[in-house]
Amino acid sequence: MVEHVPLLIVGGGPAGLAAADTALARGGKVMLLDEQPGPGGQIYRNISDTDEDRRKILGPDYAQGTSLLGVLERDGLRYRPGTTVWEVTPERTVYYTEGGQARVVTADRIILATGAMERPMPFPGWTLPGVMTCGAAQIMLKAGGIFAAEGAVLAGSGPLLLLIATQMLAAGARIEAIVETTPARNYMTALAYLPRALRAADYLRKGIAMTATLRRAGIPWYKGAHGLQALGADRVEVLRFTAGGKPRELACKLLLLHQGVVPNVQITRSLWLDHDWDAMQRAWRPRLDEWGETGLAGIFVAGDGAGIVGAKASAIQGRLAALRATDASAGEGAPLRRALSRELAIRPFLDRLYRPAMEFLRPGDGTIVCRCEEVAAGQIREHVRIGCLGPNQTKAYSRAGMGPCQGRVCGLSVSEIIAGARGVSPGEVGYYRIRPPIKPVTISELAALAEEDEPTG
Ligand SMILES: Cc1cc2nc3c(=O)[nH]c(=O)nc-3n(C[C@H](O)[C@H](O)[C@H](O)COP(=O)(O)OP(=O)(O)OC[C@H]3O[C@@H](n4cnc5c(N)ncnc54)[C@H](O)[C@@H]3O)c2cc1C
Repeated sequence: MVEHVPLLIVGGGPAGLAAADTALARGGKVMLLDEQPGPGGQIYRNISDTDEDRRKILGPDYAQGTSLLGVLERDGLRYRPGTTVWEVTPERTVYYTEGGQARVVTADRIILATGAMERPMPFPGWTLPGVMTCGAAQIMLKAGGIFAAEGAVLAGSGPLLLLIATQMLAAGARIEAIVETTPARNYMTALAYLPRALRAADYLRKGIAMTATLRRAGIPWYKGAHGLQALGADRVEVLRFTAGGKPRELACKLLLLHQGVVPNVQITRSLWLDHDWDAMQRAWRPRLDEWGETGLAGIFVAGDGAGIVGAKASAIQGRLAALRATDASAGEGAPLRRALSRELAIRPFLDRLYRPAMEFLRPGDGTIVCRCEEVAAGQIREHVRIGCLGPNQTKAYSRAGMGPCQGRVCGLSVSEIIAGARGVSPGEVGYYRIRPPIKPVTISELAALAEEDEPTG
């Protein structure tokens, strides 16, 4: 028998946990699937398993995640950590893998709360061993209290870069330098959004405090860096760049990159839902109504997967979606919408200030953009010269986007590069057509499905 549930939530971060909490409080029954071994999503990763010392290192915002854990004790919840969803159909049948076996469940309503992923930061040498993302380093810190013994150079832009630097510092890691790539003109253009951002002054205060902590630690900080190149024979040895009008070279054994996060739209794309190009965040977001419902009735998206909003706003969106998914009246969402508007006041300022530099959005010809299939930016431009109009055609020309990550890493870069070469917006160029399975599945995992009945409908 194929299992059926009233409400299925994919993702156990702030959006998914808050959605479950609201639905359960209204008497609903919820199944919550999440890839991670414990609750919390990205920001509160491993929150149920960290001791006081590690919480201190990770800071007060991280510790706040404990407030979401109460939901796991509620009646009516079936929480299934360690489960990877690899297909969601428009008829609300969900395929996932748990303990090495594929499973299937159908649902009346689905809330997709699959969050964000780090925006790739392609430049010459970014694929060398010894180069990884700041987020990956933070995962090791949150999950195991592990950090590299050798010093790290952090390069890129965005509030998360500063947060991770302060967390590493608190953990006793050595930071050799911060190479900040935020373009100088961003500070001017972001100013126009500052008055609105003052409504969320708390975020500004946190940014100032993190900057002061890093300054006090005496970490060399290069601003307005551009022309980045990572060099090394077998692994990264040197980071070369220009800052303050001067060429620079830093010896480095570990290079951590970050330039913001973008919505993880693999599932919503695989459902062929409408997506809009967000020119401010330079990413795609699924088109939703005021509750977070998609064009497919009964399928909702909440949190960073619907556009980057941060943890608090993600939780509010999760609650809104859960209200609608449990048939709340129109008026019941009003207080949440007011709270959401306050939380979102900071976004235009942050989006403008930390808009990535063009050299990382549309890298030079020699830079690999599709890491799985080793396709360089110049090859994509060559495809355009011989008639390729969009990302789907690049698959036929060079297999870009056809590796195990299914275009998750290179998708935005390929759209940007084609847009640049054609002289149009990425919104006009479009995105890869994502097909399930959105994560790799083995034959032996699939074999378990043969033992289950085919879902009806
Ligand atoms: C690497 C990384 C680190 C971050 N660290 C911080 C931080 O320290 N502080 C901060 O303020 N913000 C951080 N952010 C931003 C932060 O993710 C969000 O603001 C907030 O967590 C969004 O909440 P969410 O519930 O929408 O998504 P998330 O918290 O990302 O939760 C989504 C959950 O869905 C799960 N999931 C995704 N796809 C599937 C699937 N196919 N099957 C099953 N489960 C799936 C994920 O494993 C995850 O647990 C980070 C983002 C990233 C990408």
